[in-house]
Amino acid sequence: MLFWSYHMNFSDDDDLPLRTDTQLVTAGRDTAAQKGFVNPPVVRGSTVLYPTAADLHAHRGEFSYGRHGTPTTRALQQALRALEGDACAGVALAPSGVAAISTALLAVLKSGDHLLVCDNAYRPTRLFCDGLLKRYGVTTSYFDPLIGAGIEALFQPNTAAVVVEAPGSQSFEMTDIPAIAAVAHARGALVIDDNTWATPLYHRSLDQGVDISIQAATKYIGGHSDIMFGTISANARAWPQVEDAVRALGVCAGPDDVFLALRGLRTLAVRLKHHQEAGLEMARWLSQRPEVARVLHPALETDPGHAIWKRDFTGASGLFSIVLKPAPQKAVDALLDTVKLFGMGYSWGGFESLAIPFDCTSYRSATKWNPGGPALRLHIGLESVDDLKADLERGFSAFNAATS
Ligand SMILES: *Cc1c(COP(=O)(O)O)cnc(C)c1O
Repeated sequence: MLFWSYHMNFSDDDDLPLRTDTQLVTAGRDTAAQKGFVNPPVVRGSTVLYPTAADLHAHRGEFSYGRHGTPTTRALQQALRALEGDACAGVALAPSGVAAISTALLAVLKSGDHLLVCDNAYRPTRLFCDGLLKRYGVTTSYFDPLIGAGIEALFQPNTAAVVVEAPGSQSFEMTDIPAIAAVAHARGALVIDDNTWATPLYHRSLDQGVDISIQAATKYIGGHSDIMFGTISANARAWPQVEDAVRALGVCAGPDDVFLALRGLRTLAVRLKHHQEAGLEMARWLSQRPEVARVLHPALETDPGHAIWKRDFTGASGLFSIVLKPAPQKAVDALLDTVKLFGMGYSWGGFESLAIPFDCTSYRSATKWNPGGPALRLHIGLESVDDLKADLERGFSAFNAATS
């Protein structure tokens, strides 16, 4: 058995259809090439030497230059490809989630194009579209994330791509991605999805009509709040453009971060399962609290986006929002200053719980953000939910004391 596994290159074994949880453990492992070690080495490298002049002239060799790939990046790319499923034609690695988004957009757009972006998109995505893309001659219009097939009316003759993000990472609306993809493809446009919330484990976006699926791997893939990382996965239609842009822009990721992303990926299934269960338990508990007006979580049966979530997703992560009953800012601040297990900080997807106030009013343009009370985004980490509830209970006491 040991001998067998030593020589086994799991990713080359096509006769055994393995379930995704298993592939997360086995994909990208070339045990023999790793001299028996379970994990690939962290290859730090720029120059790759060619043994002969003939090899050099022919660019013959498994690797050619550090920027174009190493044994470490190849292992991660193979594992991510297995996670994305058969529709994935290639995965590019980027130094951050924002770099993944900007690279994907630059890959498919040109001067004179029009771009459609959902109004709940990650804010730096909007800033990229309204700033650099605009300067390069691309115009962007924003659309209501609930628009569905009605997006047809917003298409212009030069609309080249549509950006979706489901659910939005603050407001958690669910977009009907297959309906939008059907319209986009009929118009010859590509669909780009920011799939950071669910990851491909719970949302196979490339199977849902998406052409390019990006992830801020900084979040759940890394999983430990210790790296900045992005991934760009594309189907056969979009991969040549992505590959070309990655080369032209010189996008690549550092070896330590590549290694940590792969290490995080190996435990994604168990972590996400816990985030999902704990997140839902906390969401249900919060929906019963007198201080909470609404919980924004698509996996709750009462959520307006639940039907789409149930149809298109196989799970939920640990990030959702709550809308508090109307209260002065000092009451919200008292809550945030009282809780100890919920850290105040941006980002999410690590092992730790977080709470952050947010207000989308100033940057929404196609829809109005008017939840009726202060909004908080929560990330439910891997702590005991009993401890998290007790922590929030103390926070709510401080909130109530500051309200009266
Ligand atoms: C964090 C995040 C990003 C950007 O990722 P970085 O690695 O921080 O650049 C993109 N999209 C979503 C939804 C995110 O939450």
